[in-house]
Amino acid sequence: MQALPPGSTIGILGGGQLGRMLTLAAARLGFKCHVYSDVPGPACDVAAAATLGDFEDLAKIGAFASTVDVITYEFENVPLAAAAAAQRLKPLRPGAKALQVSQDRLPEKRFVSGLGIPVAPFAAVDSPADFEAATRTVALPGILKTRRMGYDGKGQVRIATPAELPAAFEAIGRVPATLEGMVRFSCEVSVVLVRGADGEARFYDVPVNRHEGGILRTSTVPSDLPAQHIARAYEIAGAIAAALDYVGVLSVEMFYVEGESGTPLIVNEFAPRVHNSGHWTIDACAVSQFENHIRAVAGWPLGSTERHSDAQMTNLIGSEADDWQKLAAEPGAALHLYGKAEARPGRKMGHLTRIKARSSAR
Ligand code: AMP
Repeated sequence: MQALPPGSTIGILGGGQLGRMLTLAAARLGFKCHVYSDVPGPACDVAAAATLGDFEDLAKIGAFASTVDVITYEFENVPLAAAAAAQRLKPLRPGAKALQVSQDRLPEKRFVSGLGIPVAPFAAVDSPADFEAATRTVALPGILKTRRMGYDGKGQVRIATPAELPAAFEAIGRVPATLEGMVRFSCEVSVVLVRGADGEARFYDVPVNRHEGGILRTSTVPSDLPAQHIARAYEIAGAIAAALDYVGVLSVEMFYVEGESGTPLIVNEFAPRVHNSGHWTIDACAVSQFENHIRAVAGWPLGSTERHSDAQMTNLIGSEADDWQKLAAEPGAALHLYGKAEARPGRKMGHLTRIKARSSAR
């Protein structure tokens, strides 16, 4: 793959905060970004160009694609027809397969378990006709999750008994779903990796991720996972990336089950993009997940994923970012604000990364 020279334009499908941080990282390497978004999102404010349009408007996607040198995406729900329209004109990295698999929990689970990687027990629930078989396959308690468009814990209902399944199916809007067995995990972790077109993969340190109300609250590095389990987490994420022939940053969320005699790591889901649990890499690594994604899609040498500091990233949700003056004054903390005008409850408005000298133990 020919490396794109500085001055080239990277097209980004999606205009949220991930696109914004990708654009800022790309600018550091001398690239321009052209963002395609259906709303005037945080990325549009910092990109060299922005096109506002529907993801169903394939003519507009085509016009956008003709202005850029390579195309990437910052959210996994890019409609496949839009990805195909873009890909007809310019290279799309990562490719459409990663989108196709990750957009729907059912093929995602089948794909991951097909690689011999443990996932939670699961069954398809497309209609009430599936209720009985699903509760026979999956031992409860469990979670009913919409197959598509779920994020930050949305579209999910927990159930304790088979009798609760009909109401849960109503609550998620009677849409195709998966029923998953509840994993009694010790903590949640994620692997953020970058993979180049030549197949080389580099891995960031594994953070421990704490959620509140289904939304990521903090990501902390280092974790205290034993080295052999971290190595296994890398192996799992690397196998998923290789199977997708992946180029760019991939993130894989996992449950860690301490003391388990079998495998301690169970894959929950993966995202074919930069990830909230990797935001700490901006301030604690020489080359962040955002810059490494840009490097990979532009065919550049991958950058160092080494962590120079210990870090804890805290999401600023809803009105929490209103405290920006206090947060900006905090010693050892890096404040990131996404420029969103309205602080709705549950909305990610920014994040704060607290860093300190890397502990010598790791
Ligand atoms: P998800 O949308 O799949 O990332 O789920 C959101 C959050 O719900 C996860 O980060 C976990 O905290 C929790 N969760 C999801 N699936 C399971 C499961 N099978 N067992 C236990 N907790 C889960």
